[in-house]
This record gives sequence, C-alpha cells and structure tokens, in this order.
Amino acid sequence: MAQNQLLTITTGILVCWVIIIIAWERIAPYRKGLPFFREGFWVDLVWYTLIQSYFLKILIFDYIIAPVRQHVHWADWHLLQSWPLAVQVLFFVLTHDLYIYLFHRFQHSNKYFWRIHEAHHSGKQVDFLAGSRSHVLEIVINQTIEFAPIILLGADPAVIPIKALVDAMFGMFIHANIRVNLGRLKYFINTPELHLWHHANYQEVFHANFSTKFSFWDYLFGTAYDPGHAPGNQPENWGLGYAFPKDYFLQHAFSFKRFDEQKLLRYKLFTQYYHLRPAIIKKLSGITHKMGSKPKASVLKQQEETVW
Ligand SMILES: [Zn+2]
Ligand SMILES: [Zn+2]
Repeated sequence: MAQNQLLTITTGILVCWVIIIIAWERIAPYRKGLPFFREGFWVDLVWYTLIQSYFLKILIFDYIIAPVRQHVHWADWHLLQSWPLAVQVLFFVLTHDLYIYLFHRFQHSNKYFWRIHEAHHSGKQVDFLAGSRSHVLEIVINQTIEFAPIILLGADPAVIPIKALVDAMFGMFIHANIRVNLGRLKYFINTPELHLWHHANYQEVFHANFSTKFSFWDYLFGTAYDPGHAPGNQPENWGLGYAFPKDYFLQHAFSFKRFDEQKLLRYKLFTQYYHLRPAIIKKLSGITHKMGSKPKASVLKQQEETVW
C-alpha cells in the first residue's frame, strides 16, 4: 500500500475516533458537567495540537532523525525486514511504552525533569484533548526516542503512521472524560479511570499510574493506584496544587523561571499581548455581547475561562 493511501486511512480512522470519543464523553461522562469548551480548550487545540505538533514533526524528523540517519547504517543489519508489519508495530509499541513508563516515572521524581512535565498536569478539567498539553522538550525527547529506532533500524515505513495513530487514539482514550469498565482487561490495557487519577491532585497518586498504553507496567512495578472511586469534582482535586500560567508561551517560560502571571499584568505591553489572542478567539467564536446590554460579571468570568 502506498504511504499516501495509508496516511488517508489512518487520518480517517483518527477523525472517526475523535467523533466517537466526543460522543462517548457526552453519553457516559466520568465527571458530570464538564463543559466541551473547558478551560484551556483553545490553548490545547490551537497551540499544542495544531501548531506545536506541526513544527515539532518537522524538527524531529527532518532536523534530528534525518541527519543521524546519514551516519547510522543499522538498516544494513536487516534485523526487522523479515518481520510481518503487525509484529514490527507491536514490537515498537511495546518497547516504547516501557520506555515512556520509565521516563514518565523519572520525570515525577526529578525536580528538573518535572519542569518539562508539569504542564501536562496543569489542566483542572481533563478531557480527550488534555493529553496534547506537553512541553516542547518533553515531546522532542519522547518522539525522537520513539521514531528514531523505527527509521534507523529500517522498519517498514508503514510502522510510523500506524504507530502515530495508535499513540493518538490511546492518548485521547486515557484522558477522555468517560466512564468505562474494562473488567479484568484493566490490568492489561490502560483506562481513563487509572490515568484520570494520575491527573488528580492527591498525594497518593503523585508517584502512581505512570502507564500510557499498557497498565501492566504499573501493576508489574507496583505503582498502580486504583481506589475504586473517582477523585472529587472540585478544582482543587485536579491538576497542580500551585498556580500555573494559562498562556502557552508563559507555560514554557515557567519551566525555566518561576513567576506570577497575574503580577506581569501590571505591564501594559504584556497586558495587551495577554488579552490579544483570547480576544481574537472570542471574536471568532462569536462570543460578543449585544450592544447596550452588559453581561453579568459571572458571565464575563466564564467567557474568560472558556477562551483560554
Ligand atoms: Zn505525569
Ligand atoms: Zn496524562
């Protein structure tokens, strides 16, 4: 099958999966009352999912892996060429999942590497899109380690779009605000229940539920936390226990230097920048109040949270 044809198929499957997950979140929500346009929705969609992914794909494949490939000739060893495509995909999914488990666990225990992971935990309303929020450096490290071996070992080119599809589908599934009962399969496949607990602001899970696709890593290494009930529904039950910037660029700056986002609003230039994109999005979303009828303060607050 031509690579282009495969890309069309994987994109089609992904679009269908997005529709299924969105419908599923409406039908069987894990937390009731979570809005679709929740806080941080546009930052996650526009900045993390679209813009960041687009540029990092070019950086990782064209400027990191491609130059390395010029000097590394592991493909000549013909290690994988005789393996069926499905076995190659399974091999890379499994080995990368173990790596991700270990690196993720390390990030939670190392104060410097936590700085490039905390953004992922910053959302207080976790849904299918929340998994996209990952620091630039975290993605560069993880995706280089993920895709470089596939290319350098000369695997079937089809492995890349298939694996990327599996990543995206799992990423959405484990973050989705859905109640799902997998029975005993939960000891094997990761579930939203286990990963949503990982996003909860409870001491018990600060060092638990690190798995991404296969939950058995957590059970195997003794880091599973599954109390059988959901975290509370209050903002303090979720995300980080400290203030975290709402702006995409400030979220990255925060990993290098701590500051108070609200205090920066004293500077006029910063205030203009800070409110520029939310204002554009608000306009695009058609969230405009009618002339002469001022919305109530609570409505304004809600809109402000929605656009971020
Ligand atoms: Zn984490
Ligand atoms: Zn997550």
